[in-house]
Amino acid sequence: MLFKTEKFERQVSLQKKVLDSILSYCQMKHPNEGILILKGKSKRGHVLIEGLVIPPFNYSGPSYAGFPHSFLPFDMSYVGIVHSHPSGSANPSVTDLHNFFGLVSLIVQSPYGDDDIFAWDSNGDSIKLAII
Ligand SMILES: [Zn+2]
Repeated sequence: MLFKTEKFERQVSLQKKVLDSILSYCQMKHPNEGILILKGKSKRGHVLIEGLVIPPFNYSGPSYAGFPHSFLPFDMSYVGIVHSHPSGSANPSVTDLHNFFGLVSLIVQSPYGDDDIFAWDSNGDSIKLAII
């Protein structure tokens, strides 16, 4: 069998002002999880995150956060979601991978510092994250 795959160097770039908004939102939501939609654009495996949307009807507790995808308008600028893990590790949970949305999932771990944010793909593999 022959597989033809194009190999992209995947990278996520996150604007510093967006990072600051994410971190303060997660701090505000603590000890519950916070969840936000990432807006931006993607080109050949490179995702640029330029803004945030608070998902309508979002819900959260200490170990879960989500929103009904059916209420979302169809919008090509939605590139993924970010949510927080108040209890430590930024590794994606099985539930996170089941609820994967878009191209990239950012997870922020407590205490929500500049170095506490990580990018993942739908397989739970790490993607390089650059703050710009
Ligand atoms: Zn999670």
